[in-house]
Order: sequence, then structure tokens, then C-alpha cells
Amino acid sequence: MKKLILILVWINLFLFWFILDLFSKESLVVFLNVGQGSSVLIYNPKLQILYDTGPFGFKIISELNKFLPFYDKTIDLVIISHADKDHFGGTFSILDRFKVRLVIISPYISEESSYLELLNKIKNLKIPIITLGDKDRIETTYEKIFVLNPEIGKFNSDNENSIVLKVYKNSKTFLLTGDIDQKVEKYLIEKYGNFLKSDYLLIPHHGSKYSSSLAFLSLTGNIYSIIQVGKNRYGHPHKETIERLKLLNKKYWRTDLNGTLIVK
Ligand SMILES: [Zn+2]
Repeated sequence: MKKLILILVWINLFLFWFILDLFSKESLVVFLNVGQGSSVLIYNPKLQILYDTGPFGFKIISELNKFLPFYDKTIDLVIISHADKDHFGGTFSILDRFKVRLVIISPYISEESSYLELLNKIKNLKIPIITLGDKDRIETTYEKIFVLNPEIGKFNSDNENSIVLKVYKNSKTFLLTGDIDQKVEKYLIEKYGNFLKSDYLLIPHHGSKYSSSLAFLSLTGNIYSIIQVGKNRYGHPHKETIERLKLLNKKYWRTDLNGTLIVK
């Protein structure tokens, strides 16, 4: 009997580690449903990168708990696209619950008080903060990430100075755009041309009609365009944006209606 129990315990342990191992071998990009805000998890077995953290701690923590193994309490890199609460608000709770190794922010200096409070908290925790802009690049074993925006001194608002990334991962491309508007889209098209082409597009500014020009949409989001949106008073996503997507026959995914999107 004792022997049988031991064997069963051993099998259980084996299965447990087998499942853990399977999970930790995944390499994913996950467009999280964080309500009215933005957050994208770029996950590989060695490294976890978070592009924006949504508006609230409880939302981002419950989403991360679904995707990060329970034993892994580290987020290696948190990238904050710009100083809007719907993009950085969840970071306070992340700093309480996870070990964050490095924070990347836009070089544009913002006066937003809760953003400055967040930067103070990060400094007090002795987590290094660096700024990245166009021409910078992040390379890991699993992904190549090109920083396309901002160009220092070019534009004068938080939104326009959002960190824009082109991510190469699992033979797919992703364009992450923060809250840029059509003026920045036009400048990016002139600057990068076909390099903006991407399989997946994170639609700028939650589907605002002041973003997502026809020219920009026709170049990007060739498999899916993702609108990260929740209940809001701005009317996001605007019907004009949806009409442009439909006109171009682009498939789109709304996190408020369709939930979280996992791309393997
Ligand atoms: Zn936003």
C-alpha cells in the first residue's frame, strides 16, 4: 500500500512538472482585456515584457494571473507608452505584487501628477528607468523590437510622444501604437513606409476617429486590428474608425466585446 501511494505521489509530481513545463515553453503576445485602457503582454519562457498596464491594478493583476505561471512573480520589462492613466495606472499594483527589473518610458517630459508619483515610486524601489525613442531596439532570444516613435522635439503632447513599437515574434509582426493621432501616423508613414506593415495592429487611442487614417489602416493590421476599449465617456471606438476598418475589409477585435486576444 505504502509503495502504491509513493508511486501515485511520484506520478502526480511528474504530471505537475510536465504541465508547468508545457506552460512555460509558450511564446505569446496577449492583448489583455483591461477595460478602457491598454496593455499587451509579450511573453516568452525566459522573459516577460508588458507594454502598458491598463487603468487599474485589479484588472491587470487578474489578467496577468491567467497567463503568468503562479510561481513566476517577475516582470522583466515594463514599457509605459506615455503618461495617460489608462496606460500606466495598473503599474502601482504591479510594483506591489511583482518584481520589476526595468522600466522604459517615453523621453517626453510629462507634468501629469500621478505619473510623476509613479516615477517616484519606481525610483524609491531602486528599479532602473530608461527612456527609449526612435532608432532604439530591444532584442531578446524570442523577439526583435524596433522603437519607431517618439522622435525627440518633433511633437508636443503626451499622446503624440507615445512609444510606438514594431515587434517581430513567432514569424509574425505587431505594431503597438499607444495613443498617437493621424498627424503622427502620417509622419510615421513618411518616415518608415512599408516598414510599418504588420500582421497585428493595436489600433491607436482605443479607436478614436482622430487616429486610424485610411492610409495607416491600409498598411497595417493585415491579420487583425485590435481595439483595446472598455466602458468610456469618449464614445470610443468611434463609428468613423469602425467604418474605415470595414471599408478596407480589415478584421478587427474589440476587447470589450471579444475579450482578451492571445496570439501564439
Ligand atoms: Zn489611452
